[in-house]
Amino acid sequence: VKQVWDSITRPTLVVDEGRVRRNIARMATKARASGVRFRPHFKTHQSAAIGAWFREEGVTAITASSLSMAAYFAADGWQDITVAFPVNWREIETINRLAAQVRLGLLVDSVETARFLVERVTSPADVWLDVDTGYHRTGVDWEDDEAGAGIAAALRGSLLTLRGVLTHAGHSYKEHTAEAVRALYDETVVRLSHVRGRLAAAGYDGLELSLGDTPCCSLVEDFSAVDEIRPGNFPYYDVMQAEIGSCGLDDIAAVVACPVVSTYPARNQVVIYGGGVHLSKEFITDRQGRKNFGWLALPTDSGWEVLLDRSYVTSLSQEHGVLQVDAADFDRLRVGDLVLVLPVHSCMSADLLKVGVLVPSGEGFEMMPGVISG
Ligand code: PLP
Repeated sequence: VKQVWDSITRPTLVVDEGRVRRNIARMATKARASGVRFRPHFKTHQSAAIGAWFREEGVTAITASSLSMAAYFAADGWQDITVAFPVNWREIETINRLAAQVRLGLLVDSVETARFLVERVTSPADVWLDVDTGYHRTGVDWEDDEAGAGIAAALRGSLLTLRGVLTHAGHSYKEHTAEAVRALYDETVVRLSHVRGRLAAAGYDGLELSLGDTPCCSLVEDFSAVDEIRPGNFPYYDVMQAEIGSCGLDDIAAVVACPVVSTYPARNQVVIYGGGVHLSKEFITDRQGRKNFGWLALPTDSGWEVLLDRSYVTSLSQEHGVLQVDAADFDRLRVGDLVLVLPVHSCMSADLLKVGVLVPSGEGFEMMPGVISG
């Protein structure tokens, strides 16, 4: 591990392979015990190498957040891919290419898009009715009793099969206790089941239920009320998830290693090479009421040691990160050293950094290339 730390010269994503494998195995085991399909969202790691660790756990179906991501994983041999993002009409050619290659799932929440697809798709594809169960991002309102049947009717007799009813309960991120997250999961199941019931009453039987955000999937044990779960963040977890209670600090598997470039003892601050373009500008308001852009850790011979609650990232500009450092930690951070930032939102930091290195092996891995560069 020391060699990994010594080799780092600029902000670098460092992933603890043992922790990621443990996080994946835990979720796969729970899904198996509940008898549901595990369709993990691959937007967090975006990496064929890490995707292979899911295969080892028996995963065969995945979720992607863009058609480019779906194409990247299709090229790596994944055969059953849901693109959990509203259909972008302007990418119909990519949709058709992918639908000819894999079992493709698309999200639809309007009759307009259903009709567009019916007219333009050239290979069979699955459609998931995207339902808004309270997050208010996309989806038909779960209480709109006509919307689902209208979309289902528009798809009838086409190459598109209505496979089920899907939601992303992203409002779970506003909760801070396990009880509240579990209650939100139960409410989400009731709302999705209501929509499925309305569709069954209209003659559309046998539809599946799909949900899965990391807080709910981490804190709920029994998923038997649904057919598939789609959590994405859990292989890495992050500060946001630890604040919600989805994971412990020991489950956080990805950090951003940043060189210390200046220290300011008079104000107990340290500046690192690691800013908004590496960490993203996501923050939490921590339990002390501070705007916090990440907790800190120091490298050790076997991984890292978290400096919890004492020292944190207080502000970010494009390339700089400013750390507020407790007096007890200050002398441990010297210019030329590495500080590890536990990111607030690991999906964003990983996407920004695009390549990573594994501890303890030191092996590098690459993520899906950017759409423009790739
Ligand atoms: N499904 C959809 C549609 C999503 O947008 C996301 C994440 O944004 C997920 C699943 C995975 O959720 P999480 O990031 O909480 O694991």
